[in-house]
Amino acid sequence: MIFSKKKITIAYTVEKCPKCEMLRKRKFLQDDVLFSNSTKCSSCDGITVIEKIFGELMEQ
Ligand SMILES: [Zn+2]
Repeated sequence: MIFSKKKITIAYTVEKCPKCEMLRKRKFLQDDVLFSNSTKCSSCDGITVIEKIFGELMEQ
C-alpha cells in the first residue's frame, strides 16, 4: 500500500454578518452555498452570509 496513513478532509463554513462584521466558523453542512444567507447573527439582528467554504486535511 502506498497510502498507509488515512487522510480525511473536514469541510468548514465561515459565516459573516454584514451588519456587525462578526465572523463565525462552523462545520460545513450539506446545503451550504457560497454567498447565500445562512443563520441569524448571534450578536445582532442581522442574517449571516456564507463568506467562505474551505477544507482542512486531517490525518487519522
Ligand atoms: Zn451581526
